[in-house]
Amino acid sequence: MVIIMHPEATQENIDEVVSVIKSRGLDAKIMIGEQQKIIGVIGDKAKFASVPVDAMKGVDHTVEISKSYKLASREFHPESSIIDVDGVKIGGAEPVIMAGPCAVESREQILEAAEIIKAGGAQFLRGGAYKPRTSPYSFQGLEVEGLKYLAEAREKTGLKIVTEVTTVEAIDHVEYYADMLQIGARNMQNFGLLKEVGKTGKPVLLKRGLAATLDEWLNAAEYIMSEGNPNVVFCERGIRTYETYTRNTLDLSAVSAIKHLSHLPIIVDPSHGTGKWRMVKPMSLAAIAAGADGLMMEMHPNPARALSDGNQSLTPEHYREVMTAVKKLSAFMREELD
Ligand code: PEP
Ligand code: MN
Repeated sequence: MVIIMHPEATQENIDEVVSVIKSRGLDAKIMIGEQQKIIGVIGDKAKFASVPVDAMKGVDHTVEISKSYKLASREFHPESSIIDVDGVKIGGAEPVIMAGPCAVESREQILEAAEIIKAGGAQFLRGGAYKPRTSPYSFQGLEVEGLKYLAEAREKTGLKIVTEVTTVEAIDHVEYYADMLQIGARNMQNFGLLKEVGKTGKPVLLKRGLAATLDEWLNAAEYIMSEGNPNVVFCERGIRTYETYTRNTLDLSAVSAIKHLSHLPIIVDPSHGTGKWRMVKPMSLAAIAAGADGLMMEMHPNPARALSDGNQSLTPEHYREVMTAVKKLSAFMREELD
């Protein structure tokens, strides 16, 4: 349930409503936007039935939330959220670009990649230190050593670091070295992991599960938010369909659907979404045109030598080409389409 307050409602009115809600064993979240003052009620519907909302000063009306997820829903939070990752704003006017190799392979490789990424204009360096590989015999990542190289790359370039956390045990390390925690597709419904990253204050990049519906994805965000972490960004990275030419089927319609259903930002990963480096540029442009708040793309200084995902990794030259095109398209959209 959401309580919409009168625009003239005072802080005292809001405090009184919150106090009544809490006295009934429910929780309340206050959202003061530019247009609206809203109080979200969390908890059992039956308990709310006995709250005399109409008798309370400053209340305009109530709206029932039909979704199983609340904190992530736009009904609950009509204004779009901007997630601030240490000064980089995801969900604002400019698309935010995260780029880098699939995995951190060595100190030299990640430092070289970071320089290329920075020069091309992206704001985040990506690279897995914990790799969730389909085969247990594939390269599993450098773990803490890899995190240290990422942190060194941040020192040298000023790029923010986004990197995957695959287990609850690794959270402390990843939280210490990274600016943003990535939940990979394979862990999107690892509820124990979602709850634990929800207990950290770190922004979370939540990738869509391999075969997740939008409802399941939104509920995964709710798991994180319900633990007290509101800083969630969605990442569409393709889903399993009957098509085998591409690694996954990139669902760009998810961008507009998520924008309608949720206030949280959404970015698109055309590298994992297609599995083919040639498709990264057209799908990046399509994602931006569809309204994505940013992109995640794989770039390797030498894709032919990559230990993972070489086929979908851009060369430095192609990365620069994609960045130039993305910047032109977003400038056009800002200037001509607003
Ligand atoms: C990745 O970003 O390196 C990755 C493993 O992606 P996904 O979880 O989308 O497969
Ligand atoms: Mn990868």
